[in-house]
Amino acid sequence: MHDVTIIGAGPAGVSAALWCDELGLDALVLEQAEIIGGQLNRVHNRIENYLGVKAANGAEFIERFSSDVSDADFDLWTNVAIDSIDLNAKRVSLRSGEQIQSIAIVIATGIRRRTLGIPGEQEFVGRGLIESGARDRDQLKGQDVCVIGGGDAAVENALLLSGVCATVSLIHRGKRLRARREMSEQLQTNHCVTVFTESVVTRILGEREVEAVEVLRKGGLKPFQIAVKGVLIRIGVEPNTELVRGQVDLNEQGYIITNSEHETNVPMVFAIGDVSNPLAPTISSAVGAGATAAKVIATRLNARA
Ligand SMILES: Cc1cc2nc3c(=O)[nH]c(=O)nc-3n(C[C@H](O)[C@H](O)[C@H](O)COP(=O)(O)OP(=O)(O)OC[C@H]3O[C@@H](n4cnc5c(N)ncnc54)[C@H](O)[C@@H]3O)c2cc1C
Repeated sequence: MHDVTIIGAGPAGVSAALWCDELGLDALVLEQAEIIGGQLNRVHNRIENYLGVKAANGAEFIERFSSDVSDADFDLWTNVAIDSIDLNAKRVSLRSGEQIQSIAIVIATGIRRRTLGIPGEQEFVGRGLIESGARDRDQLKGQDVCVIGGGDAAVENALLLSGVCATVSLIHRGKRLRARREMSEQLQTNHCVTVFTESVVTRILGEREVEAVEVLRKGGLKPFQIAVKGVLIRIGVEPNTELVRGQVDLNEQGYIITNSEHETNVPMVFAIGDVSNPLAPTISSAVGAGATAAKVIATRLNARA
């Protein structure tokens, strides 16, 4: 029996756990990955927008708070497979058969990148299908590449890659790019980038490595191919809510709805960080939400005592 079970050890979950320790709550953090940090493990750009901390990338940022985690007194289980959660009963069942009971549950499971579900998307991971423009651009120096998507992340990566690649094809299914205006404007003067709107990639092609993408334009009868050596997919994100769907209220995009105390519609069940924050998914808001949820839980438990 714990006071609080926290699901996810990204910035939100870790912040909640540190605050639980500070407030004298007995917390257990369950993380499915082998390491803590969540999305920060995939951040290869500089982090310069968190108060008082600058880091060369997400790994360096994690290093900064790792010592706080090892100094704190809470249980952290990594590599954990959760089978199901009964939010009303506050019971988490693990695939190992173990059951964890607590008074409060904090969901901090974050978001993941959307995938296209097209042929080639799985097969070419690491063989031309890249994870990050910032991290992988050097391996594509002088090559033709394509970026799929039309939001900030897609355009930012297209601009980044245009600095080193021969050509960048930006392929977007919508009529207009959704990226911030200043970024889209930069594209207009960038002769290295060709934008294909109202177009979808239907296949990623190649023998051992990526050689081309197959594209279908809206209203087009036949797909055409663009020869590329690299592909980057940035078509948005979706919240990790599979474990709690049907038990808590979600908004129309699938994010968990909470009140200003970060509590869901189920009493003593809280959701913090990106999984409940489609508007401002940032490290600072995730960390702040962790603090708020822990304080609210501590106040409630103290009132009961
Ligand atoms: C490329 C990139 C660049 C970014 N740059 C910045 C930046 O410069 N500044 C900034 O403020 N933010 C930035 N962000 C956003 C920032 O990383 C996120 O806002 C932050 O990580 C959200 O923290 P979180 O804890 O809510 O979620 P996450 O970081 O997504 O962590 C969620 C954790 O929950 C775990 N989990 C999920 N499902 C389960 C389950 N079923 N069981 C157990 N564990 C589970 C995951 O494995 C993960 O560890 C960037 C993000 C990316 C991808």
